[in-house]
Amino acid sequence: MPKSKLNTTDISDLLSFGKSKAKSHPNESRKAIKLAWKLSQKFRKRLTQAQKRTFCNKCFTYYIPALTATVRVGKSRVAYHCLHCKTITKYPYKREQKAKRNI
Ligand SMILES: [Zn+2]
Repeated sequence: MPKSKLNTTDISDLLSFGKSKAKSHPNESRKAIKLAWKLSQKFRKRLTQAQKRTFCNKCFTYYIPALTATVRVGKSRVAYHCLHCKTITKYPYKREQKAKRNI
């Protein structure tokens, strides 16, 4: 596919497909999300921060709290524990806490 043919909507369509199939067909969901990630790398389209945090970075499982992942909130970070590959991914939220403090 030439560089100009790929839009960011294609990637977000694949991600939303992965989201819709996450419960019923988890393997298809993983394949779609992996394809979206690969396309974003090949065509140098960055995923947004929100898009990056919706799936496991190791096995591309879509995060559904309590079904495919557990979510724990710590002092300054949120930990996603993937129930498929048992990977723990931690994201900071210190900036949000600071902004809340200043209000
Ligand atoms: Zn995983």
